[in-house]
Amino acid sequence: MLALYFDEQPQIKEVDRPVPGEGEVLVRVRLAGICGTDLEVLKGYHDFKGIMGHEFTGEVAGPENSPWLGRRVVGEINIVCGACDLCRRGLSRHCRQRRVLGLRDHDGALAHYLTLPAANLHAVPPEVPDVWAVFIEPLAAALRVQETAPVSPEFRVLVVGDGRLGLLISWVLALSGAEVHLAGHHPEHLALARPRGVATFLTPDLPPGDYDMVVEASGSPAGLDLALARVRPRGTVVMKSTYVGRYPLDPAALVVPEVRLVGSRCGPFAAALRLLRDGRIDPRPLIDRTFPLSRGLEALAWAQSPGVLKVLVDCREDG
Ligand SMILES: [Zn+2]
Ligand SMILES: [Zn+2]
Repeated sequence: MLALYFDEQPQIKEVDRPVPGEGEVLVRVRLAGICGTDLEVLKGYHDFKGIMGHEFTGEVAGPENSPWLGRRVVGEINIVCGACDLCRRGLSRHCRQRRVLGLRDHDGALAHYLTLPAANLHAVPPEVPDVWAVFIEPLAAALRVQETAPVSPEFRVLVVGDGRLGLLISWVLALSGAEVHLAGHHPEHLALARPRGVATFLTPDLPPGDYDMVVEASGSPAGLDLALARVRPRGTVVMKSTYVGRYPLDPAALVVPEVRLVGSRCGPFAAALRLLRDGRIDPRPLIDRTFPLSRGLEALAWAQSPGVLKVLVDCREDG
């Protein structure tokens, strides 16, 4: 099968079709998405080597006796042991033996086929087309913000970063009833948030005043600077971006105003699927371009150009 493989350099190559292990299924990938974290893999994130990609939708193609056979699915990306102390305490997304689809010790979704434990699967409702379902992982990650730090409808919330994830987070937060502001550098991206009840600002034009909560989704240290400058005393900064690099932190910026700085990663798939099924989130405006898998290198390059939103890859064998 064809795959977008990373080993110091990304490459399109023929590899053996994976064989599902005990408790696993084989998924024929239909559509996959390229995410900011995949672009960090290119810079050495997790020292990952293997097939890239963790955002996908597809259909189960094996084993023959699987009750999932033929069903359209999405899949949670953390492959966990279920037996370690963290798994037993309900923290399985942080499992000590955790592997992660396309990010850590498990081949990913930018290929004709992938394998995942059947326990990771969620069936895609018939009313959710592939181009919506492929957004399930980033949408769940956006919902995770509210699990990480509760949002009161009384809150003024600032989302920093008008990329794919920042937009999804602003849309989801606006559903909570809070007053949501989005700051970014791309007028054409900000325009996608306004119809959903989000007030948008070019970052230098952000109005004065502070925020009960700031969500950092810009993927840059400057975004965290802005977040810490704008959060109110005893407010919360939620960090969503994973990037290779370091941030010089002035402890007094947290200690004196008693600010809470909290990380936030993978979120609830079932809730994200419900938002899609009910049409409360329509991710289509986020799609920039779709490439066939054979042109996966172009897709990666395109996803890295400034101002590009979601790049999708059609992974069907004849796609
Ligand atoms: Zn992602
Ligand atoms: Zn575990």
